[in-house]
Amino acid sequence: MARPRPFVAGNWKMNGLRSSAAEMIRIVQGARALTAVDLMICPPATLLGLFASIVEGSPVRLGAQDCHTQSNGAFTGDISAEMLKDAGASAVIVGHSERRTYHKETDADVRAKGLAARRAGLCAIVCVGETRTERENGRALAVVRTQLEGSIPDGATADNLVVAYEPVWAIGSGLTPTPADVAEMHGSIRQLLRSQFAEEGAGMRILYGGSVKPSNAKELLGIADVDGALVGGASLKADEFLAIAGVYR
Ligand code: PEP
Repeated sequence: MARPRPFVAGNWKMNGLRSSAAEMIRIVQGARALTAVDLMICPPATLLGLFASIVEGSPVRLGAQDCHTQSNGAFTGDISAEMLKDAGASAVIVGHSERRTYHKETDADVRAKGLAARRAGLCAIVCVGETRTERENGRALAVVRTQLEGSIPDGATADNLVVAYEPVWAIGSGLTPTPADVAEMHGSIRQLLRSQFAEEGAGMRILYGGSVKPSNAKELLGIADVDGALVGGASLKADEFLAIAGVYR
């Protein structure tokens, strides 16, 4: 099967105000030259509506950063997948390590959110990744395998599921795993996807995330079974985000 089409997504986390529209416009303008890669920005939910008008007619898609499992109801402060779709999102990140850590989200929670995303017609970007201690103890592959087995909804397809491997210790730290470690992990994730979803699993995109920047993007994105990147800090600056995505030409 042909390699999946590359995908670079930016996770803005809890950053961005309406004045950030200028940066988003720069991303949209630069994206027109990048025809070999799918591009997405996941801004805070407060900016989805505004950014939807900016990306209209462009190849850039919008994603959200989390969703509730229910479609509506008495859940003060939460946002459903249906609401995100209605606001202009076509995907939602679920199980980011910051949600797993600060909001105590379990694999079962992540799986339920992935199912909610599918119900609403959103692609779920499911994040997994080991801590530094788990890697040092030689448990990285096993930890990620367990996370995937618990987090990925049954019946997923290459259109409604993307996996993001994000070592917790690499997020926002400037540190990255060695290319050999990334290759080993992505190969292991591919194997699991293939065993669970057969040929469909070969077409599912597996992103690497954790301190991706223009200076290391070429090396990281050139590794086998790395089908793109989930970019945090560097996605806040149009120039950096576009330089990372520009590896695919
Ligand atoms: C992230 O939080 O998804 C991420 C990859 O962050 P950073 O690129 O800043 O390490």
